[in-house]
Amino acid sequence: MGFALLNGEIIERSEAKVDVEDRGYQFGDGVYEVIRVYNGKLFTAAEHLKRFSKSAESIGISLQFSSKQLLEMVEELLKKNNLETGNIYMQVTRGIAPRNHVFPASNVTPTLVAYTIKSSRPIDNLKSGVKAILTEDIRWLRCDIKSLNLLGNLLAKQKASEKGCFEAIQHRGQDVTEGSSSNIFIVKDGTVITHESNNLILKGITKDVILDLCRKNNIPVIERTFSLTELDDADEVFLSSTTAEVMPVIEINGKIMKAGVPGKVTRKLQDLFQKEIEKQCGVLVS
Ligand code: PMP
Repeated sequence: MGFALLNGEIIERSEAKVDVEDRGYQFGDGVYEVIRVYNGKLFTAAEHLKRFSKSAESIGISLQFSSKQLLEMVEELLKKNNLETGNIYMQVTRGIAPRNHVFPASNVTPTLVAYTIKSSRPIDNLKSGVKAILTEDIRWLRCDIKSLNLLGNLLAKQKASEKGCFEAIQHRGQDVTEGSSSNIFIVKDGTVITHESNNLILKGITKDVILDLCRKNNIPVIERTFSLTELDDADEVFLSSTTAEVMPVIEINGKIMKAGVPGKVTRKLQDLFQKEIEKQCGVLVS
């Protein structure tokens, strides 16, 4: 089971327990991050920690640690748990206080937890692509905050899972927003298109790496809202997330997309993404 980080201290994971009045447990009153680890090294750690602070700040939680301190603690945790390939999960809640919708007094300390999860890369899916369903986006209007409140996302993902699919692509009316745990991209006539980073989606760290790779490698890219019709008509579709990387989507709602295999631009971006991982974390063996 290994070790976990609790409020700045590394303890046995089995001893990291939640109080029944922790506001994360009762209200989902907190935010989280997932950071990928390859070859025992953190990928895009600074970006994740920056987003973590920003999410916390946006709901009025003051983190008791700086990003630099968080990085040091997370790296120590990684070493103690001997994690080679996997994820670091971290969350902060508004702390423990008698149940009340109103925020507790400012002397209540936020609860900060982090632990590691061993998890290999989804190699088979990356090679052959995955299936998705479409579902109406029923979530709130601050999807840019990486909140612990994930019910809308969970309901969407469960629906996908029951249909034997990897992801649920959400849409508000005709507009495609994002996956239940990923950002969505289409490729049309060589141009990569993905939803602009506003309040309707999470500004994915992987999305930003992909946008950067497109710009540096002369792959035309636009951030704008696209419709269900454009999705249906796309030459290629892929999704992105910390754990799914650049994941081809080959079937949506039972309809096979164009070739039914990962597209050329998607494969190029997978290659570039892998090189970016290797630049930060060393050569990947699988
Ligand atoms: N959107 C949602 C709703 C997500 O849960 C995730 C996964 N964290 C993403 C997008 C992708 O974000 P990232 O690339 O930072 O993992």
